Amino acid sequence: MTDVRVRIAPSPTGAPHVGTAYIALFNLVFAKVNQGKFILRIEDTDQTRSRKVYETAVLDALKWVGLSWDEGPDVGGKYGPYRQSERTEIYRKYAEQLVEEGKAYRCFCTPEMLEQLRKDQKPIKTNNIYRDADEKTIQDKLEKNEPYTIRLKVPEEGECVISDRFREEVRYNYSEVDDQIILKSDGFPTYHLANVVDDHLMKISHVIRGEEWLTSTPKHVLLYEYLGWEKPEFIHMPLLKNPDGSKLSKRKNPTSIFYYREAGFLPEALLNYLSLMGYSRPNGEEKFSLEEMIVDFDINRVSLGGSVFDLQKLSWLSGKYIREDLTPQQLAKKLVAWRINEEFIAQLMPLVSERMDTLGDFMPLASFFWSRDVEYTSETVLPKKKEAKETAELLQVLLFAFEEQEEWLADQISISIRAIAQIHEWKIREITHPLFVAISGKKVAPPLFDSMEYLGKDICRVRIVKAMETLGGVSKKRLQKLDSLWKKSMKGQFEEQVLEIQKPSD
Ligand code: GLU
Repeated sequence: MTDVRVRIAPSPTGAPHVGTAYIALFNLVFAKVNQGKFILRIEDTDQTRSRKVYETAVLDALKWVGLSWDEGPDVGGKYGPYRQSERTEIYRKYAEQLVEEGKAYRCFCTPEMLEQLRKDQKPIKTNNIYRDADEKTIQDKLEKNEPYTIRLKVPEEGECVISDRFREEVRYNYSEVDDQIILKSDGFPTYHLANVVDDHLMKISHVIRGEEWLTSTPKHVLLYEYLGWEKPEFIHMPLLKNPDGSKLSKRKNPTSIFYYREAGFLPEALLNYLSLMGYSRPNGEEKFSLEEMIVDFDINRVSLGGSVFDLQKLSWLSGKYIREDLTPQQLAKKLVAWRINEEFIAQLMPLVSERMDTLGDFMPLASFFWSRDVEYTSETVLPKKKEAKETAELLQVLLFAFEEQEEWLADQISISIRAIAQIHEWKIREITHPLFVAISGKKVAPPLFDSMEYLGKDICRVRIVKAMETLGGVSKKRLQKLDSLWKKSMKGQFEEQVLEIQKPSD
C-alpha cells in the first residue's frame, strides 16, 4: 500500500469553524491508524477574503482542541511551502501547460459577455467564443494586454464517475459542468487547480473532506486526468447539521471553535463530541479520548446519517469530563487558566469598579462575563411601547449590521446602534435596552459596548439570538425577507448612515 498522507486544507476567510476541527480530527485519526502523515495546508488563494488573522486563528483553534499535524506552515516539512499564496508560480506553470496541450484555454470574456451566457442558462462553455478561438484572435488580445482567465476545457459529452468510499458511484454529466476558471485574471489560481496540484505534489493519498466538496470533485477528477496524475481516494464525510437537518449554521448553533473555548467547554469534550458525528466506536462507548479512538478506529464505520450537532449533548459530555475526570484541584486550575484570573478581572475593572462599594459587589455585577447563559423573561427584554415581533426583527437587523465587522469593537457597536436607530426611527434607548438584557441578563449593568467587546462576538451572537427567540423568534420566511432587504437596500443605507455619524463635526 502507498504511504498514507492526508490533509486538512482550511481557507482563512473567517472564524475557525467546528467543521474544520471535525474534518481535521478524522484525517488525523486516519493517518495515525495507518502509520501515515497528517498535513495542514493553508488555502489562501482568494485574495479578497483571506486574512492572516484567520490563519493564526485556525491554527490556534485546532491546537486548542488538541490536534496537531506533521507538516504545515508553522512546522515545515519537505513538501512546502504549505501556504498556497507562496506557491502561485507552481500553479501558473500547470495552467500554462494545460493551455499548450489544448486542455484549457484563455478566456477574454468580459463581465457583460458572461452575464449574457448566464442568461442563456447554458453552461459556460457552449457559446463561449474563446473555447475554440483561433491562435490569431488570442495573440491579438494578448498583445493588447487584455485581461484573461484560464478555463478548463470540460468535455461536451460523456460523464464523470467518481468513486467515493461511502457512496455508490457518483455520476456527473460533463455537458452540465461549466468550463471552470482555473487561473484568475490576477494570476492567482482558483481553489480547484491549487487544490489538485498541491494534493498531487504533496503526495496526498486520501482526500477526506466535507460532503459540500462532492460537486467540485468532477472538476478535480478531470484535472487529474488531464495532467496525467494518479487520483487520491476520495472520502466525503457527512456534513455537520443543525437539529432540524439543515447545514450547521451560526444562527442555530455556535459554529466558531472560539465560542466553545470562551463559553468554557472542555476541549477534550468538544473533540470527543466531534468524533461522534457520524461515527461510533465498535464498543459503543461515547466518552473516549483521542488515543482511545485511534486504537480501534475504522473509517468504514462512518455513517452518512447521525451528524447532528446537538449542543445539549455536547454539554452533557463536557459535564461528564468535569465530574468524572478532574480532581477539585485540577478543575480549579482549569478555571483559572480559562478566565477566572487576575489578567481577565483586571481588564474588567474599569467597567465595574465605579459601581462597587465593597469587593463583594464585584461578582454580582460581573458574573455575566463567565456565565454560559444569562436568564431573563420576555417582559424584561422588551422595551417600553414596543411589540415582541418588531423587537426581535430589529435585533436581527442589528445582527446583520454587527456582522459587517470582523471584530465587534465597542466603538463600532455604538456607531452601528446609532445608525440602525436612525434608519428605523427607534430611540437609542429602545435598542440598547433589549441588548443590555440579552447580554447581561440585567437592565442595569457595566457599560454595554465595552462589555460586548470583552465578551467577543461569538458569545454575543448566541446571546442576541437567544433574546430574539425569547421574544418569539423570527420565522424562516421573514428572516429570508429581511436578509434580502438587508442586502438590497438596508446595508447601503446603513453604510451611508455610518459615514454620516463618523463625519467630523466642525
Ligand atoms: N479550502 C477548502 C476548504 O476551505 C478545502 C476543501 C478540500 O478539502 O478540498 O475547506
